[in-house]
Amino acid sequence: MPNNNIDAIVKILSGLYPEAKTGLEYENSFQLLIAVILSAQCTDIQVNRITKRIFKKYSLPEDYACLNVDTLAGEIKSCGLFYSKSKNIINTCRILVGKYSSRVPSTRKELEELPGVGPKSASVILGIAFNQHTIPVDTHVFRVSHRLGLSKAKTPEKTEKELLALLPPQCGMDFHHQLLAHGRQVCTARKPKCADCQLIELCVAGNSSFAGGI
Ligand code: SF4
Repeated sequence: MPNNNIDAIVKILSGLYPEAKTGLEYENSFQLLIAVILSAQCTDIQVNRITKRIFKKYSLPEDYACLNVDTLAGEIKSCGLFYSKSKNIINTCRILVGKYSSRVPSTRKELEELPGVGPKSASVILGIAFNQHTIPVDTHVFRVSHRLGLSKAKTPEKTEKELLALLPPQCGMDFHHQLLAHGRQVCTARKPKCADCQLIELCVAGNSSFAGGI
């Protein structure tokens, strides 16, 4: 049974994290796509360090499409999984050039067919670049939404569907960023600060934590 306090939860989170937004730096949908591919198992700060440098050298899909994997891998090697990311970026850019006139496609199906773009990455791009109703579910969003009782789904993809059904369309990405911020700052994985949490009275796990639930 989904938590029926969703409106109150949204209101409190909006008050706590009014400025929460992506930490990735980008100027257009193409740069966002590259940054999102780089961000798997890599911090936003590290991705921003890399993209600040490579976006000056390579600004268009055509610039990446003609690179060889070793060259790009050398440029992004401070990032985890750099070799496979290099292959994915080059192959993604070749598809953008050949199939989409060098534009980033705007449907989930098309995005998820791009190498290096999974369901969560597609949700990020659709939500941020195309203003669609998405709630990307990363480890923080999954954990916090389950503790709050907003979802019992076993996978991130099903969790996103359940959250989308609960929320009004205009607040999907904001809610993602707010849950993520709350997961980093308060509802941490190992020691959630339930006693200091403003959501305690609305939270399924938080209420049971005082009875030994968390
Ligand atoms: S009350 Fe505890 S479990 Fe619930 S959201 Fe807050 S920190 Fe997380």
